[in-house]
Amino acid sequence: MSVSKNIISFKKELPANVRLVAVSKTKPVSVLFEAYQAGQRIFGENKVQELCDKYEQLPKDIEWHFIGHLQRNKVKFIAPFVTLIHGVDSLRLLEKINEEAQKNNRLIDCLLQVHIAKEDTKFGFDETELIDLLNDSDYHKLENIRICGLMGMATYTDDNDLISREFKSLADLFNKVKSDCFFDKSHFTELSMGMSGDYQIAVEQGATLVRIGSSLFGTR
Ligand SMILES: *Cc1c(COP(=O)(O)O)cnc(C)c1O
Repeated sequence: MSVSKNIISFKKELPANVRLVAVSKTKPVSVLFEAYQAGQRIFGENKVQELCDKYEQLPKDIEWHFIGHLQRNKVKFIAPFVTLIHGVDSLRLLEKINEEAQKNNRLIDCLLQVHIAKEDTKFGFDETELIDLLNDSDYHKLENIRICGLMGMATYTDDNDLISREFKSLADLFNKVKSDCFFDKSHFTELSMGMSGDYQIAVEQGATLVRIGSSLFGTR
């Protein structure tokens, strides 16, 4: 499998408004560098230590996205350089990101994770919790974070109709929240949904960021 060919063909296939997050977790830096040389600039990792190691070793014009479940005590390690945190699922985590962003004199972009799958193992807010957060005065005090959109993961299934309904529910929620809570915020634009197995459905439903690992880099 050729990583550079995969990168190029994905870029050709995806609509211009959809950005490719190359999910490089577990892969060595040599493989990431091959993707970099093929033009890839956005990489997604789900472990803090691994992300920091790779950041040190690779070119500094890479955008690093954190896509996993982030623990509050580890935010400080990625706060100096992370470009986007995809899976924020509590006010406490958001407050910690804000605190570390402040220390670094930065504005850190985040996506709120919404629970859309049938499985109850996946993290994220439900609709009510999301609306509650966005109306919470403590959230409105945070000046060093920006909520740029929503992120979600569909049920792991062969049932494409179910996946499609789940992604549509996230897109509908995105539109509702955008008009109710972010109508004056031009940065609220991102819908992170779709992985190797279901990105085509996600794109049909309006994804702006797809997180692709195994289809680019092979199985883990
Ligand atoms: C690993 C991972 C992906 C990529 O999954 P693939 O099926 O390998 O494309 C996407 N999103 C998250 C949150 C992940 O942890």
